[in-house]
Amino acid sequence: MFQSVEKPRTVTVNRQAGLLVIDWQDSHHSEYPLSGIRAVCPCVSCRGGHAEMAKPIARAQLFAQPNGSSEVQGAEFVGAYAISFTWADGHNTGIYTWSLLRSLCPCAACD
Ligand SMILES: [Zn+2]
Ligand SMILES: [Zn+2]
Repeated sequence: MFQSVEKPRTVTVNRQAGLLVIDWQDSHHSEYPLSGIRAVCPCVSCRGGHAEMAKPIARAQLFAQPNGSSEVQGAEFVGAYAISFTWADGHNTGIYTWSLLRSLCPCAACD
């Protein structure tokens, strides 16, 4: 798995295409399906409790059906290290660190 402290240069939510697009400072380009971003929501309740929090999130989950809306209503940076989303059903407790997102990059080079 890619262990990185990379930071994004630009982060774009493309609602029409249903994609989260990140251009990283090292020029890597990542496109994530928003449904998958919802499916990998790293919050305690989506992970199934505190005991599950230590387990790594598998990249395959990016292509799983989300357990809730995958329509993004808003996105907000959390300090310098993460981003959080507000989904159309009101869920907003997932904090996605850049290192998590980078490790989940579904492109062929990261596979
Ligand atoms: Zn969640
Ligand atoms: Zn990649």
